[in-house]
Amino acid sequence: MAFDIEMIKKVYENVVERVDAAKSLTGKHLTLAEKILYSHLWDGTPAKTFTRGADYVDFAPDRIACQDATAQMALLQFMQAGKEKVAVPTTVHCDHLIQAKVGASQDLQSALNTSNEVFNFLESVSNKYGIGFWKPGAGIIHQVVLENYAFPGGMMIGTDSHTVNAGGLGMVAIGVGGADAVDVMAGMPWELKFPKLIGVKLTGKLSGWTAPKDVILKVAEILTVKGGTGAIVEYFGPGATAMSCTGKGTICNMGAEIGATTSTFGYDASMERYLRATDRADVADAANAVKDYLTADPEVYANPEQYFDQVIEINLSELNPLLNGPFTPDLSTSAGKEMTEKANANDWPLQVEWGLIGSCTNSSYEDLSRASSIAQQALDKGLAAKAEFGINPGSEKVRYTADRDGILNVFEKLDAKIFTNACGPCIGQWARYEDPKNAPKNSIIHSFNRNFAKRADGNPNTHAFVASPELVAAITIAGRLDFNPMTDTLVNNNGEEVMLDEPTGWELPPNGFEVKDDGYLAPEADGSGVVVTVDPSSERLELLTPFTPIGSEIKGAKLLIKAHGKCTTDHISMAGPWLRYRGHLDNISNNCLIGAVNAYNMKTNFVKSQIDGEYDAVPKTQRAYKAAGIKSIVVGDHNYGEGSSREHAAMEPRHLGVVAVLVKSFARIHETNLKKQGMLGLTFVNESDYDLIQEDDTFNFLDLDAFAPGKPLTIEAVHADGSKDIIMANHTYNAGQIEWYNEGSALNLIKKQNNA
Ligand code: SF4
Repeated sequence: MAFDIEMIKKVYENVVERVDAAKSLTGKHLTLAEKILYSHLWDGTPAKTFTRGADYVDFAPDRIACQDATAQMALLQFMQAGKEKVAVPTTVHCDHLIQAKVGASQDLQSALNTSNEVFNFLESVSNKYGIGFWKPGAGIIHQVVLENYAFPGGMMIGTDSHTVNAGGLGMVAIGVGGADAVDVMAGMPWELKFPKLIGVKLTGKLSGWTAPKDVILKVAEILTVKGGTGAIVEYFGPGATAMSCTGKGTICNMGAEIGATTSTFGYDASMERYLRATDRADVADAANAVKDYLTADPEVYANPEQYFDQVIEINLSELNPLLNGPFTPDLSTSAGKEMTEKANANDWPLQVEWGLIGSCTNSSYEDLSRASSIAQQALDKGLAAKAEFGINPGSEKVRYTADRDGILNVFEKLDAKIFTNACGPCIGQWARYEDPKNAPKNSIIHSFNRNFAKRADGNPNTHAFVASPELVAAITIAGRLDFNPMTDTLVNNNGEEVMLDEPTGWELPPNGFEVKDDGYLAPEADGSGVVVTVDPSSERLELLTPFTPIGSEIKGAKLLIKAHGKCTTDHISMAGPWLRYRGHLDNISNNCLIGAVNAYNMKTNFVKSQIDGEYDAVPKTQRAYKAAGIKSIVVGDHNYGEGSSREHAAMEPRHLGVVAVLVKSFARIHETNLKKQGMLGLTFVNESDYDLIQEDDTFNFLDLDAFAPGKPLTIEAVHADGSKDIIMANHTYNAGQIEWYNEGSALNLIKKQNNA
C-alpha cells in the first residue's frame, strides 16, 4: 500500500478539533503553518499557546522518509533502540548512491554492483522493521514522496534537507538528522523550537520564460542563505494558487537554500488535481471535506503583517528568468545582459559545458515537458545543442510516462544522456572527470538546488548556476551563460538566425501517469524472522557502539581548527566519494572537516597539532589527540553546519573526540545534531570573541558542572604566551537536551528509558 488513507482521515479529525481549540486559546486567526503545528502536538489537543522562536515543542509527525545515504546511519541507530517495528509509517529510498556516467541502465547496474551490500542491508532492515522500501532506480526521495505520501495538512520529517519539498502539497515537512528520525521511529516525540513565520505574497502571474524556480531564486536573493533560519515560509496570494502543485514543490524544495525550517502552501485546486492524477482521489475527497482547515484563515492573507513575523511580496508579472550562482544559491543574475556584465567582471566562463535537468527540485512531468518544448524547437529550427545535456527524471513514474509521451526521445535526439531516476550529479555522483581536483575552470547550468564548490562534479573550478529547467534547456542549446531567450537569436545549421519561442508544457500528463514497476517493496507484516547481517570486515557498514558521556569537566582542551567563513555540512563531512562510507562511522570520519578553511593559513585540511607543532590533515591530527586522551574543540563562523541534515557532520567529530563546537551562529539542523550526539554546540555571546581565539589555545570550561537551560557557559581560553581571555558562550539546550549530554547521546537516553 502506497499510503494509508485511514491514517490521513484520522489526521483530519484531529485537525478540526485541534485547530478549533488552538484558535480559541490564541484568540486569533491562524496561518496554515500554525494550524499544522497545533494539530500535531505530541500531547494532543492544544492546552496552551507557544511563543514563536522561543518555545521548544514536542510534535507527533505522521510520516518519516529516509534516503539511502542517511538511512544507513539512521537505521543502524534504530537497531540499537530495541524496538520490533517503527512506530510511525516510514519509507527508505535508494537514490543517492547511483552515479551518472554513461546512461540509466548501465549506471544503475554499476550502482547495484558496487553498493549491493548497502542496498541489501537497507532492504532487510526495512523488511524487518515494517519500513516501505523503494529500490534503486525507483526515483528521488522527494519526488516519490510527493507522488505517493505527501498530503495537505500533514506533518512529516525526513533524513534529508530537501524533505521540505512536500510543502508543495500543503505539508509541514522538515529535514532532520537521522537521530531525530530514530526518536520518532522509536515512538518518541520529535522536538522543534516553535518556528517564526514568514509570509510570501505572490501577486501577478508567471508567464513566458518565468517559472516557479524563478520565484524561489528571487526569494533566495531577498532573504539570502540565512534569511529563513528558524522560520516556516508560507506562500499565498493569486500567484500561488495559479501555480502547479509540482511548481509549488520546487519553491518549497529550495526553501532549504534560505535556511528555512520548511515552506508550505495552502490546499488548493492544483493540489487536488495532483492528488487525483497520482491515484489519490480518496485523499483529495478527504481534504476537500476539511479544506478550510488546510489553509490559513482568510483574515490572515488579507492582513498578513498582523500574523507573520515578516512579509515579502513578489509580483510574478515583473519577475525575470534568473540564474543563481556560482558557488552560492542566493546570488541572482537576470538572464542576458546583466549576466554578460557580471560574468566579465568576475571572470566567470561564459561558455557553458553542460546543462543538467533533474534533481528533486525540478524533475516533475511538467518540468520535463516544458524543457522538452525548448529541445523540440531546437530540432525543428535546425539547432544543435552547443553544450552537453543530461537528464535525471525524478521517479520511475515520471520517466515511464515521459518516455511513453515521447518527451525523453526529444532530449535524446539532441544527444542528451538520460541518467537514472536518482540524484546523480546533484550530489557529486557524476563521473565527469578522471581527476576532478585538477579539472579546468568551466561553467555549467542546472535545475538543481545547491551549487556549492565541487558539489556536482568534485571540480573546485566548476562554476555552477541554478535556473529553471526551461532556461537550462535554452542555455544548453545556446552554449552561453548570458543567452537571453527572450531577446537573443541563434544561428542554425543553415546559417539562419532563429529565436526560441516561449516554453509550453503540461502540468500533468494529458493521458495520465503510467508505470510498469514503480520500484516499491512492501515490508513483511511480521518481520521478526528477518535476519539482518553486517559483515564485521565490511568497509561500508559498521554496527555502532554507544558514545561515552563527555562529562562535566572539560579542562585542557585544544583547538582542532578555527574554521574561516562558510563551513557547511559538505565542508564538515564531504559527499561525493565519501557517500560510500555513510554506514561506517570510523571510515567516514577520515573526511572530518577536511573541507573547512583553517582561519590561520586559509588552507583546507591543514591544521597545527599542539602535540608536536606539525601541520597535518584534520582527521589525522584529531586521531592523535584522541589517542593521547586530549579533548579538543572546533571554532566556527556564521551559519556553521548549513546545508544538509546529515548527522555524520556531528557524529564524526564526536567519534574522534571533539567535545564542543563554538561558533558565531549555527544552522538549525546541525545544532540539533550536535546535541543529539551528546556534545556541546555553543555560540559566542560576543561574536567578536571569535577573533580572540588563537592557534595554540587551550580551553577550560569553568562552569560546565552547572550546565543549565538559559545559562551561558564560561570558557577560559589560555593562549600560548600564558595570557587568558574569558569567553562567554550561549547555548539553546533545554533540560531534556542537557539529559542527552549527560547520557552521552539522545540514543543512550532512549535505550535507558526503554530498559527502565
Ligand atoms: Fe538528491 Fe540532490 Fe535532492 Fe538531495 S538535493 S535529494 S542529492 S536530488
